Amino acid sequence: MRMKAAVLREFNKPVSIEKIELAPPKEKEVLIKTCYTGFCHSDLSFIQGILQFPLPLVLGHEASGLVEDVGPGVTSLKKGDHVVPAWMVPCGECPECRSGRGYICSESQRIQATGGLLDGTSRLTDSKGNPCYHQTFVSGFAEYMVVPEKGAIKIREDIPLDQACFLGCCMPTGFGATYNAADIKPGDSVAIWGMGGVGLNVVRGAKSRGANPIIGVDLEGSKEAIAREFGVTHFINNSKEDPVPIIKELTGTGAKFVFEAAGDFGAYVQAWWSLGPWGKLVHIGVIKPGAVFRTEDLPIMFAPLQGISTKGALYGFIDTQRDIPKFADMAMRGELLLDKLTTKKFKIEEINDVAEAMDKRQIVGRWVCEWD
Ligand SMILES: [Zn+2]
Ligand SMILES: [Zn+2]
Repeated sequence: MRMKAAVLREFNKPVSIEKIELAPPKEKEVLIKTCYTGFCHSDLSFIQGILQFPLPLVLGHEASGLVEDVGPGVTSLKKGDHVVPAWMVPCGECPECRSGRGYICSESQRIQATGGLLDGTSRLTDSKGNPCYHQTFVSGFAEYMVVPEKGAIKIREDIPLDQACFLGCCMPTGFGATYNAADIKPGDSVAIWGMGGVGLNVVRGAKSRGANPIIGVDLEGSKEAIAREFGVTHFINNSKEDPVPIIKELTGTGAKFVFEAAGDFGAYVQAWWSLGPWGKLVHIGVIKPGAVFRTEDLPIMFAPLQGISTKGALYGFIDTQRDIPKFADMAMRGELLLDKLTTKKFKIEEINDVAEAMDKRQIVGRWVCEWD
């Protein structure tokens, strides 16, 4: 079928809106009509080539939609089901999957890097018949998506689809990290760098764990109001103030948990310095390679002296099939504030303006593409 899609043809160049061809779902794949697609900071990282994937690439990985058709052998989904496509589809057989860590499935990551679906091939071709590639099994900036059956997570039908799209990336990535990568106990101090879609969901997770204080750090003062609405007790604008002494003061000896959700090496360094004894840095953001630092830039000598640890966290270490429907329930109980996350809806033709606004740190909350 012919459909409109946002295609990245060259890194650091504008995305083109094209009519491209989507092949029907193959065995154990489903066709989804896209309803909403959030613009995630990782989409900007794809555009800027910080995340290198084969081109031309159909962007987008934070979407919601309705099942339109199913391929042969599909048993768990039918036309009309409400779904969120996941950007990690555990194979079930690699060493990580076998040890219960499908969220870092090496086979899924290997296939992602080819731009194909699970069989390694793409369903996308441009108007000249040349292949286009899938972004991490999703390619949500398109009118339709073909995704693996086990990557299409069925959700309850009463959750608004303009909130459900967040269950595909920023919500589990941030919230899940507070449960699965950190072990926050009531009263533990938490500081978070980056008050974007992911960081705000770290705040929700920290709040639900009873953390106190919850300190939000962002280079833009414009993020303070939404950060407070989501639950930070303190907000520090680190373009104006050095957050390290303020956090040391607020917490006594330094924060118990710090989260890097800005994807910035400067934020990573500040987060490191803000840790207290036995503290843990949870590293979520994708940091551009190439930062050169000296050992004195990071107080790594305190890692052994104070039992400090760092932990990378991908996709909140969730089990997509098990957890995304639960998150939908939590959202419907009003615990996640997903209804407050969208601050603007846009049309796909505006995607380059949205990318520019993201690059200039002008996006408060999430901007979401609305499909007809
Ligand atoms: Zn994302
Ligand atoms: Zn696996």
